[in-house]
This record gives sequence, structure tokens and C-alpha cells, in this order.
Amino acid sequence: MSAIDITVSEVGPRDGLQSIQPVMATEAKKAWITALHGAGVPEIEVGSFVPATVLPQLADTAELVAHARTLTGLTVAVLVPNLRGARDAIAAGAHKITIPLSVSETHSLRNVRRTHAQMYEAVAAIAEAITALPVDQRPLLEGGLSTAFGCTLEGRISEAQVLRAAEQLLAAGCDEVGLSDTTGYADPRSVRRLTQAIWDRFGHKVLTGIHLHNTRGQGLACALAAVETGLTTVDASMGGIGGCPFAPGASGNIVTEDLVFMLEAMGLRTGIDLEKLLQVRQIVRNALPDDIALYGFTPEAGLPKGFRQAP
Ligand code: ZN
Repeated sequence: MSAIDITVSEVGPRDGLQSIQPVMATEAKKAWITALHGAGVPEIEVGSFVPATVLPQLADTAELVAHARTLTGLTVAVLVPNLRGARDAIAAGAHKITIPLSVSETHSLRNVRRTHAQMYEAVAAIAEAITALPVDQRPLLEGGLSTAFGCTLEGRISEAQVLRAAEQLLAAGCDEVGLSDTTGYADPRSVRRLTQAIWDRFGHKVLTGIHLHNTRGQGLACALAAVETGLTTVDASMGGIGGCPFAPGASGNIVTEDLVFMLEAMGLRTGIDLEKLLQVRQIVRNALPDDIALYGFTPEAGLPKGFRQAP
């Protein structure tokens, strides 16, 4: 496999499906993950270890981790809300565990009924559980800085709040933090500013990735700002599934197909074969009810005549 400049992390099976009611069959999810890997996608967030009663759609996460681990070279990522989820993720053998923290404490209390202090305690316990493993079996622990760009409840989130949360997450034992714009509040300048602020304070190594939503149509612009600033991992979901019900026409996450096209057209290598990637979309289409929209311009328009990816 050739070297990769930007890691596109496919979060469709988790973030995309999370907000879709009809449960996608486990076999379809496996076929989707296998096909993504076949197209060269280097990292996939396959699910979330939340109770099945809360999110029946993601109840098969352990089985998907086991399946994804059979795919050579794939980084298998999962989301966990707490220590119990992290224990399940470790037992299943995930390579990368992300625990989201709402930088807005109001949001944290409302959504997961946890104060920041309780969240940091959970992170510390997770880090401890990971440290107890043999070195070569330890998953990477990422603290996701959710609502870093703004919160639907608190509105503006200050840079100081984000830096404080990052500091606490790192102190509690996270290997990395990730910038996360859950609500589509980010713009290209805020992406640059926050990335730089975290780097200035904690160094480059602790922040490599960003999670963006296209709620206000800023997804690709923000992704461009992110990679030009120097971030090297960008989350996206195939077909941009999981769109916001309050913003019709807006995809959920950035559309993977469009993101990969942009990066490859710029000569930034993703390791992903675009022609193959576009074919994977059919698996998702077939596995979802017709009234669930798939987004993306590149899949509709096709690749430009004579388009070639860098080898
Ligand atoms: Zn998201």
C-alpha cells in the first residue's frame, strides 16, 4: 500500500446509522465494512458500545469489531460513552476508542447526565484499564471535544473552555484529543484557530483529527481548512448519512465520496480507490429504506473525464 497523506476515517456505520431508526442488518453492515476496506479506507468507526436499549441500531458493535479485525491493516475504531462501554470495547479488541466529552457542561448534563468531573473520572478509569493491558494490545484512547465550536444549548463556546477540557482529558490519560463539531457550528477560520490554540498549548502530537458535520454546508470548507492547517485525520460518512432532521438537504457528516474526491484531486493521497469507493455506495443504498437520503455530489456527477489519482 502506498503512503497516505490524509487518513479518511469512515464513521457511517456509527455516526451515520446512529440517527437512523430502521436497523441495518448485521450482515449488510459487515458487507459494507468489508467493501470499504476493499476500496482502501484505512480506518472505520464500526459502532458504539452503548446499551442496546438506548440504541438498538448499534447493538451488534462487538460482532462488527470482531469482523473488522479480520480485515488486514484496518484500524477499527469505536465510540464509548463510559467505562462499561470501554471495557466492552477492550474485550472486543478495538484499536481506537473515542470517548466524547461535551465541552459545554450544560450539554453534557442534558445528554449523558454527567458533570465534567464525572466524565474525567470515567476517562481516568478507562486509561487505567488500558494501561493494565500488555503494551502491544493497548488501544489508542481519544477524548472527543464535542460542541467545541458551539453548543445548541449554551451557544458560543470559548477557546478557554476548549483548552481547559483538552487539558483535563489529557491529564486523565487520553493519548489524543479530537476536535468535534457535533452541531455544524464550525467555520474554516474557527477550525484553524482552535487547532492552532491546542497545538500551541499542548504540542502537535495530541491533536491530529477532526469530526465535522455539514449541517450548514461548511463541511468541506472546514475539512480543507483542517488539512491545510496540518490535521491528518478527517471523519466522514458514506453518503453523508445521518443528516440533521432540522436542516433538510444537509448531509450529516461530510460525505466521504466528496471528501476523498477533493483530497485526491488536490494530490493528497488517501489510499482510497475512488472508483471502488463509489461502488460501495450501492451496498448502503440497498441496505437502507428508500426514504433515507444518501447525499453527495461526486457520486451523482461521476468522476471528471480523464481523472487520475496519484499512485
Ligand atoms: Zn458526529
